[in-house]
Amino acid sequence: MGRPALNPVVVLGATGSIGTQTLEVADRCNLTVAAAAAGAVSESLVAIARRYPDAQIAVAQPPTMPVDPAFERRLACGPDAVADLARIPGATVVNGIVGASGLAASLAALEAGNRLGLANKESLLIGGRLVMEALDAGSGELIPIDSEHSAIWQCLVGEPADAVLRVVLTASGGPFHAKPDVDLVRVSVVEALAHPTWDMGRRISIDSATLMNKAFEVIEAHFLFGLDYDQIDVVIHPQSFVHSFVEFVDGVVKAELGSPDMRKPIQFALGAPGRMPRAATPFDVVGVDLTFSEPDRERFPALDLGYRAGRRGGNGPAVLNAADEIAVAAFLDERIGFTEIVEVVADALDEVPIGSIDTLAAALEADAAGRDAARRSVAVRSVR
Ligand code: MG
Repeated sequence: MGRPALNPVVVLGATGSIGTQTLEVADRCNLTVAAAAAGAVSESLVAIARRYPDAQIAVAQPPTMPVDPAFERRLACGPDAVADLARIPGATVVNGIVGASGLAASLAALEAGNRLGLANKESLLIGGRLVMEALDAGSGELIPIDSEHSAIWQCLVGEPADAVLRVVLTASGGPFHAKPDVDLVRVSVVEALAHPTWDMGRRISIDSATLMNKAFEVIEAHFLFGLDYDQIDVVIHPQSFVHSFVEFVDGVVKAELGSPDMRKPIQFALGAPGRMPRAATPFDVVGVDLTFSEPDRERFPALDLGYRAGRRGGNGPAVLNAADEIAVAAFLDERIGFTEIVEVVADALDEVPIGSIDTLAAALEADAAGRDAARRSVAVRSVR
């Protein structure tokens, strides 16, 4: 019995971690790659263009150096060119763009009625309301590509919307949660980048170490699943085998588990509601210990700060995210200490006036305001 043909894939952020793994999954599942986009021209993008000679190629920033003429003829440039790829009819758009520019592409995909496989966190943090409105208004679909939200999404298949009592997001705890003796004021960049279970980019590794990444995921879950913040809990699960839980009103709890591997949520987003053959190494439960504990909210104040920004609503999540991006960059540059990351973000939330986000322009404005406020806070700290 054959399965129905799956949509061609548009990969935005094609040279990044999610993009590269999406291309790998698409190849293995024999899916057509219709288009690929990246922030700028790079050797890896040229290699992708060669590997997929029929794919449309776009970059947000025009090349500043001469490029191969054959490549240049295929190249569309500018942020609009990237969003245009998201509108290719009948595509599944995997949005692996890093940063605020991912929001426009997410909106474009949904407005065009496409399936959006969403790995760009900023889409929901900056424009959660806009994205969910675009989803409700049209015929597009949104399937999250993040292990926790994909797990929840999969647990909810076939369930009535009012059946959910709460969700529990699992967090590895990063490199420091299991080490209560480590003085977080003094940890180095190298120590903070050493994630125990997931191999990830630099910002998300730091965000995992502060638990800010989990705070973001709480806010994303609020938007994705229409849950109140008091229906979203976080539990520390160092093995990262259980990717999240859903507890239903009758007391039944579902979970999705397996080895930590982003190719699974990517493949699910490309193939849902069907399932394609194995995306990852088999999971052997024998001998596996699963442990769960409360997060240490005093040592890791990012978590409660995230809930606070989420409950504030409006521009709160956008400011939280933008300020964190600046603060993490400052930590990676050794301009501020590890615990100052969250202090900078808290400063920005205090400084930027509460506002609503009704348009893409307002979303980007809130993002810029959060960034500016964080830069000011970093500048004061750096000279001390
Ligand atoms: Mg995650």
